[in-house]
Amino acid sequence: TPVQPEFDTTIHRRKTRPVPVGTVTIGGGHPVVVQSMINEDTLDVDGSVAGIRRLHEIGCEIVRVTVPSMAHAKALADIKQKLESTYQRVPLVADVHHNGMKIALEVAKHVDKVRINPGLYVFEKPDAQREGYSDQEFADIGDKIRETLEPLVVSLRDQGKSMRIGVNHGSLSERMLFTYGDTPEGMVQSALEFIKICESLDFRNLVVSMKASRVPVMLAAYRLMVKRMDELGMDYPLHLGVTEAGDGEYGRIKSTAGIATLLADGIGDTIRVSLTEAPEKEIPVCYSILQALGLRKTMVEYVACPSCGRTLFNLEDVLHEVREATKHLTGLDIAVMGCIVNGPGEMADADYGYVGKQAGYIALYRGREEIKRVPEADGVQELINLIKADGRWVDP
Ligand code: SF4
Repeated sequence: TPVQPEFDTTIHRRKTRPVPVGTVTIGGGHPVVVQSMINEDTLDVDGSVAGIRRLHEIGCEIVRVTVPSMAHAKALADIKQKLESTYQRVPLVADVHHNGMKIALEVAKHVDKVRINPGLYVFEKPDAQREGYSDQEFADIGDKIRETLEPLVVSLRDQGKSMRIGVNHGSLSERMLFTYGDTPEGMVQSALEFIKICESLDFRNLVVSMKASRVPVMLAAYRLMVKRMDELGMDYPLHLGVTEAGDGEYGRIKSTAGIATLLADGIGDTIRVSLTEAPEKEIPVCYSILQALGLRKTMVEYVACPSCGRTLFNLEDVLHEVREATKHLTGLDIAVMGCIVNGPGEMADADYGYVGKQAGYIALYRGREEIKRVPEADGVQELINLIKADGRWVDP
Protein backbone atom coordinates (compact mmCIF):
# COMPACT_ATOMS: atom_id res chain seq x y z
CA THR A 1 0.00 0.00 0.00
CA PRO A 2 1.34 3.43 -0.86
CA VAL A 3 2.25 5.56 2.16
CA GLN A 4 0.00 8.58 2.61
CA PRO A 5 2.04 11.67 1.74
CA GLU A 6 1.66 13.14 5.23
CA PHE A 7 3.14 9.98 6.78
CA ASP A 8 5.93 9.58 4.26
CA THR A 9 9.31 9.89 5.99
CA THR A 10 11.40 8.99 2.94
CA ILE A 11 13.25 11.60 0.88
CA HIS A 12 12.31 11.02 -2.75
CA ARG A 13 15.25 12.14 -4.81
CA ARG A 14 14.67 13.92 -8.10
CA LYS A 15 15.37 11.58 -11.00
CA THR A 16 18.54 12.56 -12.81
CA ARG A 17 20.73 11.10 -15.50
CA PRO A 18 23.97 9.36 -14.45
CA VAL A 19 27.06 11.46 -15.18
CA PRO A 20 30.44 9.67 -14.97
CA VAL A 21 33.39 11.29 -13.22
CA GLY A 22 36.19 8.73 -13.48
CA THR A 23 35.31 5.85 -11.16
CA VAL A 24 32.38 7.71 -9.56
CA THR A 25 28.91 8.46 -10.92
CA ILE A 26 26.93 11.59 -10.08
CA GLY A 27 23.15 11.27 -10.35
CA GLY A 28 21.16 8.37 -11.76
CA GLY A 29 20.07 7.32 -8.27
CA HIS A 30 23.66 6.89 -7.05
CA PRO A 31 24.40 7.97 -3.45
CA VAL A 32 24.98 11.71 -3.09
CA VAL A 33 28.69 12.19 -3.85
CA VAL A 34 30.98 14.10 -1.47
CA GLN A 35 33.56 16.40 -2.99
CA SER A 36 36.03 19.10 -2.07
CA MET A 37 38.98 21.00 -3.47
CA ILE A 38 42.67 21.05 -2.53
CA ASN A 39 44.26 24.39 -1.80
CA GLU A 40 47.78 23.46 -2.86
CA ASP A 41 49.22 25.17 -5.93
CA THR A 42 48.73 22.77 -8.85
CA LEU A 43 52.30 23.55 -9.99
CA ASP A 44 53.51 21.84 -6.80
CA VAL A 45 53.02 18.30 -8.10
CA ASP A 46 54.13 16.44 -4.96
CA GLY A 47 52.17 18.76 -2.67
CA SER A 48 49.05 18.38 -4.82
CA VAL A 49 49.36 14.60 -4.98
CA ALA A 50 49.65 14.51 -1.18
CA GLY A 51 46.69 16.89 -0.77
CA ILE A 52 44.47 14.90 -3.14
CA ARG A 53 45.41 11.65 -1.46
CA ARG A 54 44.80 13.06 2.03
CA LEU A 55 41.31 14.19 1.03
CA HIS A 56 40.47 10.97 -0.80
CA GLU A 57 41.56 8.80 2.13
CA ILE A 58 39.09 10.51 4.46
CA GLY A 59 36.16 10.08 2.09
CA CYS A 60 36.32 12.89 -0.47
CA GLU A 61 35.11 11.02 -3.54
CA ILE A 62 35.89 13.65 -6.17
CA VAL A 63 38.74 16.12 -5.80
CA ARG A 64 38.87 19.47 -7.57
CA VAL A 65 41.98 21.40 -8.48
CA THR A 66 42.43 24.86 -9.89
CA VAL A 67 44.03 25.50 -13.28
CA PRO A 68 44.80 29.18 -13.79
CA SER A 69 47.45 28.75 -16.51
CA MET A 70 48.73 26.40 -19.19
CA ALA A 71 51.60 25.38 -16.90
CA HIS A 72 49.03 24.33 -14.28
CA ALA A 73 47.09 22.35 -16.90
CA LYS A 74 50.25 20.52 -17.94
CA ALA A 75 51.17 19.83 -14.30
CA LEU A 76 47.95 17.85 -14.02
CA ALA A 77 49.38 15.21 -16.35
CA ASP A 78 52.15 14.61 -13.78
CA ILE A 79 49.75 14.76 -10.84
CA LYS A 80 47.48 12.16 -12.39
CA GLN A 81 50.37 9.89 -13.33
CA LYS A 82 51.94 10.13 -9.87
CA LEU A 83 48.63 9.49 -8.12
CA GLU A 84 48.02 6.38 -10.15
CA SER A 85 51.54 5.01 -9.69
CA THR A 86 51.83 5.72 -5.95
CA TYR A 87 48.22 5.51 -4.78
CA GLN A 88 45.20 4.94 -7.01
CA ARG A 89 42.95 6.58 -9.53
CA VAL A 90 41.09 9.47 -7.93
CA PRO A 91 38.26 11.21 -9.84
CA LEU A 92 39.63 14.67 -10.63
CA VAL A 93 37.92 17.89 -11.67
CA ALA A 94 39.68 20.96 -13.01
CA ASP A 95 38.35 24.44 -12.38
CA VAL A 96 38.96 26.60 -15.45
CA HIS A 97 38.63 30.28 -14.65
CA HIS A 98 38.57 31.97 -18.02
CA ASN A 99 37.29 31.63 -21.51
CA GLY A 100 40.70 30.83 -23.04
CA MET A 101 40.07 27.40 -24.48
CA LYS A 102 43.68 26.29 -24.82
CA ILE A 103 44.07 25.66 -21.10
CA ALA A 104 40.71 23.91 -20.86
CA LEU A 105 41.53 21.68 -23.83
CA GLU A 106 44.89 20.72 -22.32
CA VAL A 107 43.45 19.95 -18.91
CA ALA A 108 40.54 17.98 -20.39
CA LYS A 109 43.09 15.36 -21.41
CA HIS A 110 44.13 14.75 -17.80
CA VAL A 111 41.01 15.06 -15.64
CA ASP A 112 37.58 13.43 -15.57
CA LYS A 113 35.48 16.58 -15.45
CA VAL A 114 36.02 20.24 -16.28
CA ARG A 115 34.20 22.96 -14.38
CA ILE A 116 33.46 26.14 -16.26
CA ASN A 117 31.75 29.31 -15.03
CA PRO A 118 29.41 30.82 -17.66
CA GLY A 119 29.87 34.26 -16.10
CA LEU A 120 33.49 34.29 -17.24
CA TYR A 121 32.68 33.91 -20.94
CA VAL A 122 32.60 37.61 -21.54
CA PHE A 123 32.54 39.09 -25.03
CA GLU A 124 30.83 42.37 -24.21
CA LYS A 125 32.68 45.47 -25.34
CA PRO A 126 33.17 47.85 -22.43
CA ASP A 127 30.69 50.71 -22.80
CA ALA A 128 29.99 52.92 -19.81
CA GLN A 129 26.91 54.41 -21.53
CA ARG A 130 25.30 51.06 -22.15
CA GLU A 131 21.76 50.71 -20.88
CA GLY A 132 20.97 47.27 -22.13
CA TYR A 133 21.41 44.68 -24.88
CA SER A 134 19.30 44.40 -27.99
CA ASP A 135 18.10 40.93 -28.94
CA GLN A 136 20.62 40.95 -31.77
CA GLU A 137 23.54 41.88 -29.52
CA PHE A 138 22.45 39.25 -27.02
CA ALA A 139 22.28 36.58 -29.72
CA ASP A 140 25.60 37.60 -31.31
CA ILE A 141 27.40 37.16 -28.00
CA GLY A 142 25.65 33.82 -27.63
CA ASP A 143 27.15 32.78 -30.99
CA LYS A 144 30.63 33.79 -29.83
CA ILE A 145 30.19 31.74 -26.67
CA ARG A 146 29.15 28.76 -28.75
CA GLU A 147 32.19 29.08 -31.03
CA THR A 148 34.51 29.33 -28.03
CA LEU A 149 32.96 26.48 -26.07
CA GLU A 150 32.55 24.03 -28.92
CA PRO A 151 36.08 22.51 -29.00
CA LEU A 152 35.95 21.79 -25.25
CA VAL A 153 32.50 20.24 -25.49
CA VAL A 154 33.58 18.07 -28.41
CA SER A 155 36.76 16.99 -26.61
CA LEU A 156 34.89 16.02 -23.41
CA ARG A 157 32.16 14.30 -25.41
CA ASP A 158 34.61 12.26 -27.47
CA GLN A 159 36.55 11.21 -24.36
CA GLY A 160 33.39 10.25 -22.43
CA LYS A 161 34.21 12.87 -19.81
CA SER A 162 31.98 15.40 -18.07
CA MET A 163 31.46 19.10 -17.47
CA ARG A 164 30.06 21.14 -14.62
CA ILE A 165 28.29 24.29 -15.60
CA GLY A 166 29.01 26.18 -12.40
CA VAL A 167 27.02 29.40 -12.20
CA ASN A 168 27.91 31.79 -9.38
CA HIS A 169 25.56 34.52 -8.26
CA GLY A 170 28.52 36.84 -7.75
CA SER A 171 29.90 36.51 -11.27
CA LEU A 172 27.05 36.74 -13.76
CA SER A 173 28.03 38.22 -17.11
CA GLU A 174 27.07 41.84 -17.79
CA ARG A 175 24.68 40.82 -20.55
CA MET A 176 22.79 38.52 -18.16
CA LEU A 177 22.77 41.21 -15.45
CA PHE A 178 21.33 43.79 -17.85
CA THR A 179 18.77 41.42 -19.27
CA TYR A 180 17.60 39.42 -16.26
CA GLY A 181 19.05 41.34 -13.32
CA ASP A 182 21.08 40.10 -10.41
CA THR A 183 18.50 37.38 -9.82
CA PRO A 184 17.97 33.62 -9.73
CA GLU A 185 16.44 34.05 -13.20
CA GLY A 186 19.75 35.47 -14.48
CA MET A 187 21.57 32.48 -12.98
CA VAL A 188 19.15 30.00 -14.54
CA GLN A 189 19.36 31.68 -17.97
CA SER A 190 23.18 31.56 -17.81
CA ALA A 191 23.10 27.83 -17.14
CA LEU A 192 20.44 27.11 -19.76
CA GLU A 193 22.37 28.94 -22.47
CA PHE A 194 25.38 26.68 -21.87
CA ILE A 195 23.29 23.53 -21.53
CA LYS A 196 21.64 24.22 -24.88
CA ILE A 197 25.02 24.64 -26.59
CA CYS A 198 26.16 21.31 -25.14
CA GLU A 199 22.94 19.56 -26.15
CA SER A 200 23.19 20.88 -29.71
CA LEU A 201 26.59 19.14 -29.87
CA ASP A 202 25.06 15.95 -28.46
CA PHE A 203 26.90 16.27 -25.14
CA ARG A 204 24.87 15.53 -22.02
CA ASN A 205 27.43 14.55 -19.36
CA LEU A 206 26.53 17.71 -17.50
CA VAL A 207 26.27 18.64 -13.83
CA VAL A 208 24.88 22.05 -12.90
CA SER A 209 25.50 24.26 -9.87
CA MET A 210 23.86 27.54 -8.88
CA LYS A 211 25.92 28.72 -5.95
CA ALA A 212 25.47 31.92 -4.00
CA SER A 213 26.82 33.08 -0.67
CA ARG A 214 23.35 34.01 0.60
CA VAL A 215 21.35 30.93 1.42
CA PRO A 216 17.91 32.27 0.33
CA VAL A 217 19.37 33.25 -3.07
CA MET A 218 21.01 29.88 -3.47
CA LEU A 219 17.80 28.07 -2.54
CA ALA A 220 15.72 30.12 -4.98
CA ALA A 221 18.23 29.62 -7.81
CA TYR A 222 18.40 25.83 -7.44
CA ARG A 223 14.64 25.54 -7.12
CA LEU A 224 14.04 27.68 -10.18
CA MET A 225 16.63 25.66 -12.10
CA VAL A 226 14.85 22.43 -11.21
CA LYS A 227 11.51 23.90 -12.28
CA ARG A 228 12.92 25.05 -15.64
CA MET A 229 14.70 21.76 -16.25
CA ASP A 230 11.49 19.85 -15.50
CA GLU A 231 9.56 22.04 -17.93
CA LEU A 232 12.23 21.46 -20.60
CA GLY A 233 12.52 17.71 -19.94
CA MET A 234 16.13 18.05 -18.73
CA ASP A 235 17.40 15.68 -16.07
CA TYR A 236 20.88 16.95 -15.27
CA PRO A 237 22.18 16.26 -11.77
CA LEU A 238 22.88 19.17 -9.44
CA HIS A 239 26.00 20.01 -7.45
CA LEU A 240 25.00 21.82 -4.25
CA GLY A 241 26.98 24.34 -2.30
CA VAL A 242 26.91 27.68 -0.51
CA THR A 243 29.90 29.76 -1.58
CA GLU A 244 32.01 31.76 0.84
CA ALA A 245 30.25 30.19 3.83
CA GLY A 246 33.12 31.21 6.10
CA ASP A 247 34.49 29.13 8.93
CA GLY A 248 33.71 27.63 12.30
CA GLU A 249 30.27 26.88 13.62
CA TYR A 250 28.46 29.48 11.52
CA GLY A 251 30.16 28.36 8.29
CA ARG A 252 28.96 24.81 8.95
CA ILE A 253 25.44 25.89 9.87
CA LYS A 254 25.14 28.18 6.87
CA SER A 255 26.31 25.45 4.49
CA THR A 256 23.96 22.96 6.11
CA ALA A 257 21.02 25.37 5.93
CA GLY A 258 21.45 25.64 2.16
CA ILE A 259 22.53 22.13 1.24
CA ALA A 260 20.26 20.17 3.60
CA THR A 261 17.17 22.19 2.77
CA LEU A 262 17.46 21.20 -0.88
CA LEU A 263 18.50 17.62 -0.18
CA ALA A 264 15.44 17.22 2.05
CA ASP A 265 13.33 18.15 -0.97
CA GLY A 266 15.09 15.50 -3.05
CA ILE A 267 17.28 18.02 -4.90
CA GLY A 268 21.02 17.44 -5.24
CA ASP A 269 23.37 14.68 -6.38
CA THR A 270 26.75 15.88 -5.15
CA ILE A 271 27.70 18.32 -2.41
CA ARG A 272 30.59 20.47 -1.35
CA VAL A 273 30.73 22.33 1.94
CA SER A 274 33.03 25.33 1.31
CA LEU A 275 34.78 26.31 4.53
CA THR A 276 37.56 28.82 5.07
CA GLU A 277 39.49 26.04 6.77
CA ALA A 278 41.61 23.08 5.64
CA PRO A 279 39.55 21.11 3.07
CA GLU A 280 39.81 18.00 5.27
CA LYS A 281 37.45 19.77 7.68
CA GLU A 282 34.71 19.85 5.03
CA ILE A 283 34.40 16.11 4.57
CA PRO A 284 32.92 15.16 7.99
CA VAL A 285 30.38 17.99 7.60
CA CYS A 286 29.26 16.58 4.25
CA TYR A 287 28.85 13.08 5.67
CA SER A 288 27.05 14.37 8.75
CA ILE A 289 24.52 16.24 6.59
CA LEU A 290 23.92 13.13 4.48
CA GLN A 291 23.63 10.87 7.53
CA ALA A 292 21.29 13.24 9.40
CA LEU A 293 18.94 13.16 6.40
CA GLY A 294 19.19 9.39 6.10
CA LEU A 295 20.68 9.71 2.61
CA ARG A 296 23.92 7.90 3.46
CA LYS A 297 24.96 5.97 6.54
CA THR A 298 28.69 6.09 7.01
CA MET A 299 29.03 6.21 10.79
CA VAL A 300 27.35 5.16 14.02
CA GLU A 301 24.19 7.16 14.66
CA TYR A 302 24.21 8.33 18.28
CA VAL A 303 20.93 9.18 19.92
CA ALA A 304 21.44 10.99 23.22
CA CYS A 305 19.14 13.01 25.45
CA PRO A 306 20.12 16.56 26.35
CA SER A 307 20.17 15.57 30.07
CA CYS A 308 18.13 17.23 32.80
CA GLY A 309 17.56 17.11 36.53
CA ARG A 310 16.69 13.41 36.27
CA THR A 311 19.99 12.44 34.64
CA LEU A 312 21.67 9.77 36.74
CA PHE A 313 25.24 10.06 35.45
CA ASN A 314 27.52 12.49 33.66
CA LEU A 315 25.95 12.18 30.25
CA GLU A 316 28.54 14.20 28.39
CA ASP A 317 31.41 12.06 29.68
CA VAL A 318 29.59 8.79 29.11
CA LEU A 319 28.53 9.74 25.58
CA HIS A 320 32.13 10.65 24.84
CA GLU A 321 33.34 7.30 26.24
CA VAL A 322 30.72 5.32 24.31
CA ARG A 323 31.55 7.20 21.12
CA GLU A 324 35.29 6.62 21.50
CA ALA A 325 34.70 2.90 22.02
CA THR A 326 32.21 2.37 19.20
CA LYS A 327 32.70 5.03 16.52
CA HIS A 328 34.32 2.57 14.10
CA LEU A 329 31.19 0.36 13.97
CA THR A 330 29.46 1.64 10.85
CA GLY A 331 25.79 0.87 10.53
CA LEU A 332 24.71 0.81 14.20
CA ASP A 333 22.43 3.17 16.13
CA ILE A 334 23.43 3.56 19.80
CA ALA A 335 21.45 5.55 22.36
CA VAL A 336 22.75 7.06 25.59
CA MET A 337 19.87 8.25 27.77
CA GLY A 338 19.97 9.82 31.19
CA CYS A 339 17.09 7.97 32.89
CA ILE A 340 14.50 5.26 32.46
CA VAL A 341 11.58 7.65 32.79
CA ASN A 342 11.72 8.85 29.20
CA GLY A 343 14.91 7.22 27.96
CA PRO A 344 13.71 3.85 26.61
CA GLY A 345 10.71 5.36 24.86
CA GLU A 346 12.76 8.05 23.19
CA MET A 347 15.65 5.99 21.92
CA ALA A 348 14.21 6.15 18.40
CA ASP A 349 14.52 2.41 17.85
CA ALA A 350 18.27 2.42 18.37
CA ASP A 351 20.01 -0.97 18.12
CA TYR A 352 21.53 -0.58 21.60
CA GLY A 353 20.77 1.63 24.57
CA TYR A 354 22.72 2.73 27.62
CA VAL A 355 20.17 4.11 30.05
CA GLY A 356 20.49 5.49 33.60
CA LYS A 357 18.62 3.07 35.87
CA GLN A 358 19.21 4.11 39.48
CA ALA A 359 22.08 5.78 41.30
CA GLY A 360 25.27 3.89 40.38
CA TYR A 361 23.56 1.51 37.92
CA ILE A 362 22.69 1.61 34.26
CA ALA A 363 20.56 -0.63 32.07
CA LEU A 364 21.64 -1.96 28.70
CA TYR A 365 19.02 -2.36 25.99
CA ARG A 366 18.91 -4.26 22.74
CA GLY A 367 16.24 -2.45 20.77
CA ARG A 368 13.36 -1.94 23.18
CA GLU A 369 14.29 -4.87 25.40
CA GLU A 370 16.20 -4.38 28.64
CA ILE A 371 19.00 -6.95 28.65
CA LYS A 372 20.78 -6.37 31.94
CA ARG A 373 21.51 -3.97 34.76
CA VAL A 374 25.18 -3.30 35.49
CA PRO A 375 27.20 -1.00 37.76
CA GLU A 376 27.85 2.29 36.00
CA ALA A 377 31.62 1.76 36.20
CA ASP A 378 31.29 -1.32 33.95
CA GLY A 379 28.68 0.19 31.63
CA VAL A 380 30.78 0.90 28.55
CA GLN A 381 32.63 -2.42 28.69
CA GLU A 382 29.36 -4.31 29.18
CA LEU A 383 27.89 -2.49 26.17
CA ILE A 384 30.87 -3.62 24.10
CA ASN A 385 30.42 -7.20 25.42
CA LEU A 386 26.75 -7.13 24.40
CA ILE A 387 27.57 -5.94 20.87
CA LYS A 388 30.27 -8.64 20.67
CA ALA A 389 27.87 -11.34 21.87
CA ASP A 390 25.48 -10.32 19.09
CA GLY A 391 28.24 -10.73 16.51
CA ARG A 392 28.04 -7.07 15.52
CA TRP A 393 31.46 -6.03 16.80
CA VAL A 394 34.55 -5.53 14.67
CA ASP A 395 37.93 -4.56 16.07
CA PRO A 396 38.95 -0.97 15.34
FE1 SF4 B 1 15.99 13.93 31.42
FE2 SF4 B 1 15.59 11.29 31.30
FE3 SF4 B 1 14.77 12.86 29.27
FE4 SF4 B 1 17.36 12.45 29.65
S1 SF4 B 1 15.85 10.88 29.11
S2 SF4 B 1 16.40 14.43 29.29
S3 SF4 B 1 17.50 12.32 31.85
S4 SF4 B 1 14.00 12.86 31.38
